[in-house]
Amino acid sequence: MTQPLPLFARNQVIVAIWGLVCVLVLSVATGVSSLLWNQRQAELAEQAQQLARIAAGAEVGVNRTLLALDVLLATTEELLGQPLAAGAGSAISEPMADRLLAAVARQSLNVRHVALLDASGRPLASSSAATGRLVDDPPPDFVARALAQRVPTLLIGEPLLAPRSAERVIYLARPVLLPGGQRLLAVAQVPLEALAAVLLQGIGATPIELTLERASGELLLGLATAQGLSDAARASGPPLSDLWEQAANGWHGQTRLRGVPGQVAGRALMYGDLWVTASLAQSEVLRDWQQQVWLVGGAALLLALTLVISGGLAASHIARMQRARAEVAQSKALLDQALASMVSGFVLLDAQHRVVQWNPRFEEFFPWLASVIQPGVSFRQVLEATVHYHLPGASAEEKREWVRLRMRRQVQPQGTLEQRLPSGRSVQITERMTPDGGLVIVYHDVTELRQAAAEIELLAFYDPLTGLPNRRLLLRRIDEACAATERSGEHGALLFIDLDRFKTLNDTLGHEMGDLLLQQVGHRLQAGVRSGDVVARLGGDEFVVALLHLPPDLALATEQARTVAGQILGLLARPYTLGEQIHHSSASVGVTLFSQNSQAALEILKQADIAMYEAKAQHGNVLRFYDPAMQTVLHQRASLLADLKQALPLQQFRLHLQPQFDAHGRLLGAEALLRWQHPERGLVPPGLFIPVAEDSDLILAIGQWVLVSACELLVRWQADARLARLHLSVNVSARQFRQADFPALVGQCLEASGARAQRLELELTETLVLEDVNDTIAKMHQLRARGVRFALDDFGTGYSSLAYLTRLPLHRLKIDRSFVQQLGESPSDDVVVQTILGMARNLDLEVVAEGVETPRQHAFLQAHRCAIYQGYLFARPMPIEEFETLARGQGEADAASVSFSI
Ligand code: C2E
Ligand code: MG
Ligand code: MG
Repeated sequence: MTQPLPLFARNQVIVAIWGLVCVLVLSVATGVSSLLWNQRQAELAEQAQQLARIAAGAEVGVNRTLLALDVLLATTEELLGQPLAAGAGSAISEPMADRLLAAVARQSLNVRHVALLDASGRPLASSSAATGRLVDDPPPDFVARALAQRVPTLLIGEPLLAPRSAERVIYLARPVLLPGGQRLLAVAQVPLEALAAVLLQGIGATPIELTLERASGELLLGLATAQGLSDAARASGPPLSDLWEQAANGWHGQTRLRGVPGQVAGRALMYGDLWVTASLAQSEVLRDWQQQVWLVGGAALLLALTLVISGGLAASHIARMQRARAEVAQSKALLDQALASMVSGFVLLDAQHRVVQWNPRFEEFFPWLASVIQPGVSFRQVLEATVHYHLPGASAEEKREWVRLRMRRQVQPQGTLEQRLPSGRSVQITERMTPDGGLVIVYHDVTELRQAAAEIELLAFYDPLTGLPNRRLLLRRIDEACAATERSGEHGALLFIDLDRFKTLNDTLGHEMGDLLLQQVGHRLQAGVRSGDVVARLGGDEFVVALLHLPPDLALATEQARTVAGQILGLLARPYTLGEQIHHSSASVGVTLFSQNSQAALEILKQADIAMYEAKAQHGNVLRFYDPAMQTVLHQRASLLADLKQALPLQQFRLHLQPQFDAHGRLLGAEALLRWQHPERGLVPPGLFIPVAEDSDLILAIGQWVLVSACELLVRWQADARLARLHLSVNVSARQFRQADFPALVGQCLEASGARAQRLELELTETLVLEDVNDTIAKMHQLRARGVRFALDDFGTGYSSLAYLTRLPLHRLKIDRSFVQQLGESPSDDVVVQTILGMARNLDLEVVAEGVETPRQHAFLQAHRCAIYQGYLFARPMPIEEFETLARGQGEADAASVSFSI
C-alpha cells in the first residue's frame, strides 16, 4: 500500500525548488551585475583614454596654433625691423608696415588682423590699415598688461565681442623689442571660431565638452558637441591647477562646461597657464553601457522570469502530482477500508492465478489459510491447503480431483458455486474475469438466505400452527396420488373434516384455546391414519385426510374409507383438555373416492367439501359420501343466494303474520314469518332461503329489516285500541343474535320507532341458546331489562338438558311442530308434550303449541292445559292487512262479549 507523502516532505520539495530558483536567479543577477560592472569599468576606462587622447590632440593643436601665432607676433619685429628702423621716430603707420603686417596676417588663417602698438598703446601699424578695414582696438588694460610684462611672453587676453565685426575674438599680444630698444607690442586678433576649429580637430562626433581655459578656471573658449556643435560659455570653473596630478589620466568630476557629473581630461598648454580640457558627461560616458545594461538586464530579467516561471510550474506540477498521488493513496486507502469492511470475502488473482489481494472477511471464512495466503502464492496452493478442511475424510486422490475440478472452473468461470464450510455455513462463490485476464473471486455468506429459503419453503407448504402440510402441498400430494392410482389401479379417498361449532369455541374461550384444539385435532388425525396417508390443514377448522392405497375394488375401498372416517369422527368426538378445561367437540366429515378416472386434485377436494357441507347440514358429527346430486343442490343454492342479495334492495320481502290464540280462542298476537316475493320463484317460504341467508352475512341485514318492520307494525297497532294489546313474535337467527351489539340494535329499533318493548317477543331456537349459553343469557337479560320478552322456539328438538331453562329469562316455550303433529299417534311424543307442559308450569312459563292442525291435537293440548295455540287449525300465516282485519273483528267480538258478560 502506498503511503501518502507527509505534508512537510511535500513542502520540502517545493521549498527546494524555490531555493534552486532563487540561487539561479541570484547567480544570473550576480553574473549579469559583475559583467555589467566590468563593462562599465571598461567603458569608463576607454572613455577616459579617449578623453585623454582628445585632450592631448587639442593640446597639440592649440599649442601649435599659439606657437604659430607667437612666432608670427614675434617675427613682426624682424619683418618690421627695417621699415621701423628706417622711420625710427617717424610715424609707424607707415603704409609699408601695414602691408607687411597684412602679409603676416594672411600667413595665418587663424588671425583676423595683426597690429603693432607702441609703448603707449598707440597703433604703429596694422594689417587692417592696408586693407582699409576698420578694426577694433585691443582693450587698453590688455595692452597695458602686455606692455607691463617684464619678460616678454605671449599674453593671451580674455575673449570678447568685437563691436565692429560683431565677432567673438581673443587678443594675443607679445612685446617686441626693437633693435633700438624701443618696446612695441605685437597684437593679433584671433577669432574664437578659429581656435574652436583647432580644438575640434579630429574629435569626430563624440558628444564632449572642450574648453580652453586658464588654470584658474577662467574660461576662454568652451565647446559642447552634445547637441551639435555650439560655443558654450560659463563664468568660471574650479581651478585646474589643483587637478594637475590627475590631469594626465583624466578624472571624475564635474564637466567643465555644464558642470554635470562626468569624466574630465585636461592638458596644460605651454603658454601661460592655459589648459585645454575635454569632458564627457557621465550619461554620455555610459550611454553604450546603459544600452547594454538594458539589453543584458532585459535578457537577465527574462532569464530570471523564465526561471521563476519554470520553478512555479515545476512546483505546481509537483504539488499536482503529489495531490494526485495523495488522492490515489487516499482512494487506495478507502478501497482497502471498503474491502476490509466488505461483508463478502474477496480474493483477487492475477492472470497466472496468483494471489494479488484479499480481504479480512476471506480470512474469517477460511481461518486455516491465514498462514498460507500471501501475495504471489498460486491459488492452487490455496486450494490444496483448504481441501483438507472441506473433505476431511477424503482420500488423497479425491482431494486432488477436487482441486483439479475447482481449478478447471476458474479457466472458464461461469455462474456461481456454493460451498458448505466445515463450520456449517454456506458460502456462495462468484468468479469474474478481470480485463487483464485475472480473476475476482467473491465469497458471499448465504447461510441466512438458505435458512430463510428453507423457512419460506416450510411456510409455503406447511401450516405453521399444526406443522401439517397446507393446501398447496395437499393438492400436490393428491395429484401425485392420482398419478400413482393410475399405475396401481388402486383407489384413494379424501376426507374433508370440519370441526362443529369451532367458531363458538374461538369466540368464547379465545383464539389460544382454539389453536390448542386445532393442534390436538392435528395430532389425533395423524395418529388415526396410516403413515402413507396424508393429513393436511386447509385453514381455520378445516382438515383433510387423504387415504392412499385403498383396494382397487370400489365397494371395498368405500367400506374402508367409511371405516376410517367413522374412526376419525370417534377420535375427534373424544373430550379435549384445553388448559384446565375439558372441551367437547365433534366434526362433520365429507368423503369422496378417487381413482385413475378422477379429475384434478382441486375437483376432488371440492367434492369432499360438498359432502362435508351436507354432513354439516345434518348438524354435525356425521359423515357423508359425495353424491353428484349434492352438486346440483349446491348450484341451486348459489343461484338462490345471488337472487337473495337483490331481495332487500328490490323490496321483495313481505311479513306474514300467523295468529296465536289462548285456550278460549282469543287472539293474543302473532308470529311474524318472513316471505320472499320473487318475480320468477313466486312466494318463497323462509325454510328455503333463511338457511342460505344464514350461511352468509345476508341474514344480518334481513333480520334487521324484520325487526324494524315488526316495530313499525307495533307502533301502528298502538294507535288502534283493538290491536294495541296484541304482541308480535319475531324469529331471530343465531348469527343475528351472536352480534355483539344485538341488544343495542334491538334497543335502537324500539327507540327509533317508539314501539312498546313489552309487545315485542323474540323467538330464539334451542340450538341457538345452547351454542353459547352464557352469552345468550347476558344478552337476554339486557333486553329483558328493557321489557322485551323471549320465547324458546322449536322446543324439544335440542335433546338437551332442561336445567338451563331455569337460568334463561324466558317467557314462553314453543313446543316444536314435530311433537304436536304426532300427538295421539306416538305415545312417546305424548309423553314429551305432557312433560314439557308440566315442567313449564313448574317454571311458570307459558307454552305455545305450534303446528296444531287437527281438533284432536287441540283437544289433547287443551286436556293438558296448554295455554297458547298456533296452527293451521286456527289460521295460516297471512298478509298483515288480513291479520289486522281478523284482529279488529275479534276485538269487536271480545268487546261485545265483555259487555255481554257484564
Ligand atoms: P318457526 O319459527 O318454527 O315458524 C313456524 C313455522 O310453522 C312457519 O313456517 C309456519 O308457517 C309453520 N306452521 C304454523 N302452523 C303450522 C301447521 O299447522 N302445520 C304446518 N305444517 N306448519 C305450520 P314458515 O313460515 O315456513 O317458517 C319456517 C321457519 O322459518 C320458521 O320456523 C322460522 O324458523 C323461520 N323463519 C320464518 N320467518 C323468519 C324470520 O323472520 N327470521 C328468521 N330468522 N327465521 C324465520
Ligand atoms: Mg318461530
Ligand atoms: Mg317453531
